[in-house]
Amino acid sequence: MCALPDFVVDLMTSCVGCRRCMKVCPSHKYGGCSPWLSMIAKDPNTEMCIGCGKCSEVCRHTNPKLVMLYLKAEKLGVSTPEAFVRHGFSIPPASDDWKKELPKYKEGRDVFVMPGCIVQGKIPYLKYAAIKAFEYLGVGAGELLDNTCCTYPVTFRKMDEAQRTEIKVNLRGNASGRDLVTLCSGCTNELATSGVYAPNICTYFSKYLDRIRALPGLKGRKIALEPGCSSERFYTDFRMVVEATGAEIINKTRGCCGKNIEGVSEKLMEERQAECQGAEFIVVGCPNCQVFYDRVEGGIPVIHLSELICLAAGDAETQRFHKLRIEA
Ligand code: SF4
Ligand code: SF4
Repeated sequence: MCALPDFVVDLMTSCVGCRRCMKVCPSHKYGGCSPWLSMIAKDPNTEMCIGCGKCSEVCRHTNPKLVMLYLKAEKLGVSTPEAFVRHGFSIPPASDDWKKELPKYKEGRDVFVMPGCIVQGKIPYLKYAAIKAFEYLGVGAGELLDNTCCTYPVTFRKMDEAQRTEIKVNLRGNASGRDLVTLCSGCTNELATSGVYAPNICTYFSKYLDRIRALPGLKGRKIALEPGCSSERFYTDFRMVVEATGAEIINKTRGCCGKNIEGVSEKLMEERQAECQGAEFIVVGCPNCQVFYDRVEGGIPVIHLSELICLAAGDAETQRFHKLRIEA
């Protein structure tokens, strides 16, 4: 425990042992980690934390999710990713080849979109979807120049806190005073921890509900809504945007995609697919969720909220990059 920052040790000693966190932890449900045991340094499975944050939502005394991030980093022996040193992202960015497969688009300067590592590295076509979605809403958007990782991933927990703060503040500065909007709500949440305001795209879209209603729309299409854990706090905005397209939301429950925790993820994805049965497609707010839902063999097609706005405007261009496809 001595290698942990003092504030993490303080958070651990603030635990009162009520175990509320255990009841909501999706990893614990399937034999993974235990947030309570982690707080008393007795969890053998800290590396199985998904980072969903459900524990911190119910905890009244401390911040177990933040503690888990540091314990997991300790257990896995992480260091600042090589990709960050070379490219500024936690994973290597994808090539720009995807642009050749899409119609040319013009970037505006009203709003800057911050993609985040998952979009930049795994599903860069979402940058097109976000910029086009803004165009359909009459907002000129462009990609944030000199953008980097927000430093949320577990691999950054050995980095000096002051350095992490500086990176986040610089990201805001790169927007040159324009609105900075994230594609990944994890980025919004992480930037906020250093006082940097960058609303998630679902919050930003919710300012344009009348314009969304004016699009050709998706009336009568049955869809499921899975915002993803990091977008859960923006659920109201997220739902309002989806409803404005005219689509009918059919799922009554929602939850964690499970990411890539062996032995746990499969069970959680089974839960998600079951609760979304009957939907033509699933709408997510988290790019990482998009990656995991799109991998499910025989699963329900998935799209990000930015693609939903495009689809409501009759634009299904980014579908060509999906493994599980829907048509406009
Ligand atoms: S981390 Fe919070 S919710 Fe969990 S046992 Fe400790 S005080 Fe209770
Ligand atoms: S962040 Fe999620 S998976 Fe990790 S301990 Fe908390 S509830 Fe469990």
